[in-house]
Amino acid sequence: MTKAFRLLICVTALLLLKESSPAGAEENQVIPDKANKNARTKRQSQQTLAVTTILERPFTMNKDSKLEGYCIDLLSELSKKVGFQYEVNVVKDGKYGMMDSDGNWSGMVGEVIRKEADMAVAPLTITSVREQTISFTKPFIQTGISILLKRDTTAEGLFLFRFLNPFSRETWLGILIAYLVTCVCLFLVGRLSPIEWKEPQSEENKFTFLNSLWFGAGALTLQGAEPHPKALSARIIATVWWIFTIFLLAAYIASFAAFLNSGSQQTPTIQTFEDLVKQKSIAFGTIQGSSTFNFFKNSKSPTFQMIYEYMEKKKDLVLVKTFEEGVQRVKESSYALLGESVMQDLAVAKHCDLIRAPEIVGRRGYGIATMLDSPLVRNLSIAVLELSESGHLDYLYKKWWQSSCSDKGNTGWIPLQAQTLGGIFLLLAAGLVLGVIVSLIELVSKAKNSADQQNKSCCSTFSEELGRRFKGASESQEESEKVQP
Ligand code: ASP
Repeated sequence: MTKAFRLLICVTALLLLKESSPAGAEENQVIPDKANKNARTKRQSQQTLAVTTILERPFTMNKDSKLEGYCIDLLSELSKKVGFQYEVNVVKDGKYGMMDSDGNWSGMVGEVIRKEADMAVAPLTITSVREQTISFTKPFIQTGISILLKRDTTAEGLFLFRFLNPFSRETWLGILIAYLVTCVCLFLVGRLSPIEWKEPQSEENKFTFLNSLWFGAGALTLQGAEPHPKALSARIIATVWWIFTIFLLAAYIASFAAFLNSGSQQTPTIQTFEDLVKQKSIAFGTIQGSSTFNFFKNSKSPTFQMIYEYMEKKKDLVLVKTFEEGVQRVKESSYALLGESVMQDLAVAKHCDLIRAPEIVGRRGYGIATMLDSPLVRNLSIAVLELSESGHLDYLYKKWWQSSCSDKGNTGWIPLQAQTLGGIFLLLAAGLVLGVIVSLIELVSKAKNSADQQNKSCCSTFSEELGRRFKGASESQEESEKVQP
């Protein structure tokens, strides 16, 4: 009897020992300084946790009646690290979670509060209001709010004019003005300089306005058109113009090559939230019951308040149920979707006709939600940090955010701005001023010589000479007009 009793005790002890031993080979590999974690792991591995999530690309997607995506991969990693089993369900109302006027929560937040789920693993934004009713882990993805738009197809229509893209509009305007001013200076110097035009009465002036334009255009295309300047003043102007054109062409070629390599399409017409509010042709909205909607609601900024008022007024027309629906609307109609930049970046990577505005506001992060003050949170947070520090979260991001438009991706190319070329514009301006001054000096010295010869005052000879040169201009202009039938 005692023997049988002893045997029973031994069997029970053995059974108990087996139960309290590490659950699997994986846990055996955990390093000793994580002993505490192991203890927690052992406890938690006993239970199967109910996890709620939302069908949102690429976080959780349905594939062959199974769930896959970033969140599913993350959950599997977390379960290994923290040690629990889980069962994933998609949130019943398809919402993230917002509090209604009676204080009831919808979506995943509501399910966690009502203990229908032990945790929510989804792109659920950590916000102060939510944090009061549920607990969040450290963020596993950082994001912010931006605008998702359709590429401007009208600009795409200007495909044939892409050769103009290397310079900004202001730069092109600056170049045109520089060209005209240089030609006017050349024309002036051609008249003023006595070396360039010796005898205004008898000799024909080579630098007519048309010829000056022709000379300028010739240099711009490196063709060296005639007439060739003889006077120092005209040569100064010609030289600075040549230097200007050389730098300009070099900058154009470099920028054009960068443009072609970057495959840049264009920058969106709406760049900021302010641009969005100012225009009327594009409707805009966000996901109902999302933290993005709440962000605009609670913001004190006048622009964001205007956005909120607009969305609140047109609620049924502009709010969408899911991000996917929003993307579809952006593609099919004149609509801009306000939402989180990580999701928008994915949409841009998958749909090449979409573009995201560069402005990002309201920096925030996605966290895993559990019941308020759940003991799970700490372990999950540590696991999230470990995954982040080991680069596993980056790996998951790369895995699920792969672009199908990568060859056309925006690599940050922008057209050359006028300020970038400011130096050569300045050099040109200085050269033009110098050229005109030198031509005046040339004319003054000629006037002085003839004043000495004719015993006249220098000033009167100078003004006579000036008059002859410019009267000559209008006369010769008239003559040339008469010659032409
Ligand atoms: N991730 C968000 C949320 O938790 C959705 C959004 O704001 O766009 O509500």
